[in-house]
Amino acid sequence: MKLDLHIHTTASDGQYTPAEIAAKAEQLKLSVFAITDHDTVAGIAEGREAAKRLGIRMIPGIEISTFYKEEIHMLGYHIEETNQALISQCEAFASEREGRGRRVCDYLNGIGIAVDWDEILEIAAGANISRPHFAAYLQKHGYVTERKEAFKKYLDTPEFHSATDRKLQTPCEAIDLIHAAGGKAVLAHPGLLHMPLEEQRELILRCREHGLDGLECHYGKHTDEQTAHYLDLAKELGLIVTAGSDYHGEKVKPDVQMGMEVNMDDLEPGL
Ligand code: AMP
Ligand code: MN
Ligand code: MN
Ligand code: MN
Repeated sequence: MKLDLHIHTTASDGQYTPAEIAAKAEQLKLSVFAITDHDTVAGIAEGREAAKRLGIRMIPGIEISTFYKEEIHMLGYHIEETNQALISQCEAFASEREGRGRRVCDYLNGIGIAVDWDEILEIAAGANISRPHFAAYLQKHGYVTERKEAFKKYLDTPEFHSATDRKLQTPCEAIDLIHAAGGKAVLAHPGLLHMPLEEQRELILRCREHGLDGLECHYGKHTDEQTAHYLDLAKELGLIVTAGSDYHGEKVKPDVQMGMEVNMDDLEPGL
């Protein structure tokens, strides 16, 4: 089965509009795709409309940035994007992101990189301000040749984080929010966590006690060993299994393709 339940659009830091993503999903003959932008549901209506026109299945989603020991991403699926609590919280996320973006400007200016806030707004073009917008700026102005390099040199250093970190929800708060909006909560890309496996297990158990529904066992960057480990864990803990590439477009993440080929037996058909 070919599908992709983890895709970013221009509503956050992706390269393509939701309608373009729907068209790609159709070209790739995906059985189903989900739009999961960072901290926003702004791309869902357009994606749904385009998917309907093309006769393909789209699941409305979100990827919420949370923090517990490290940054942890919580995916929400089948959320009602008109839910008032969800909309209000997304507005709060957007304003936290804007505040953080301004601190990023100050930080970069302070280390000798002249960043113009208005140009960042232009690059973001109405989307939630996120680090890839700064990476695009640094590339455009010749500070780096590749966007990856922008993270390595400037946007993912300890100094960067201590100067710019924003307040994030806890994973359990995000689970509550997703449930309040009628959705299912799935821990994103567990294989990218930095904490050791035992601590991961503890985190996943605590989240499950709080209602976590699933685990993104199939993820573009998971090794076969990681996939097998998380599939076992999901089975043991009774969590549903999802699959996503984390597609952002070639300009943003050149090494990530859209679409995942997975064994149907692994997946929760209801999702
Ligand atoms: P933000 O949510 O604003 O902190 O930005 C995080 C986003 O930056 C992630 O969702 C990725 O799309 C991107 N990102 C993070 N680290 C890297 C990296 N090392 N190389 C390229 N993109 C990255
Ligand atoms: Mn991203
Ligand atoms: Mn993520
Ligand atoms: Mn993502």
